[in-house]
Amino acid sequence: MSYVSGAAPPAGCVFCTALDAGDDRRVFVVERGARAFLILNAFPYASGHLMAALVRHGGGLLEAAPAELAEMMALVQRGMRALLAAYRPDGFNVGVNEGRVAGAGVPDHLHVHVVPRWNGDTNFMPVLGGARVLPESLDATYQRLAAALTS
Ligand SMILES: [Zn+2]
Repeated sequence: MSYVSGAAPPAGCVFCTALDAGDDRRVFVVERGARAFLILNAFPYASGHLMAALVRHGGGLLEAAPAELAEMMALVQRGMRALLAAYRPDGFNVGVNEGRVAGAGVPDHLHVHVVPRWNGDTNFMPVLGGARVLPESLDATYQRLAAALTS
């Protein structure tokens, strides 16, 4: 259970909603762990934009337990390796936005963004919005990363 025992999932939390959907493929959860999971960003800055999120709802980086951080960062590494295999990026932006003022879309559910970057791309973390040009669908990204994670 991804939220406080006995309570409904926090309204509007995309992570809790995804975990409870019962259909990982439909909601683009590409991998689950005990304390953290990998999910595609539904509004990616670039194709392959992943997030490693805690299973537990509530709190930010300062509230996370060491075991939660360890598992979440291990999933960041797994996601990076899968992206390298599937997309051959030249680099990554990996980071946490803490608080709405810093650009966090879901400020109460800790998650780390993993955004693949390519030499010459024009897509430097448009945190404040802007055009997003994506060469493939989320379904296609899901299939590529799911394959890379299991190979
Ligand atoms: Zn949540």
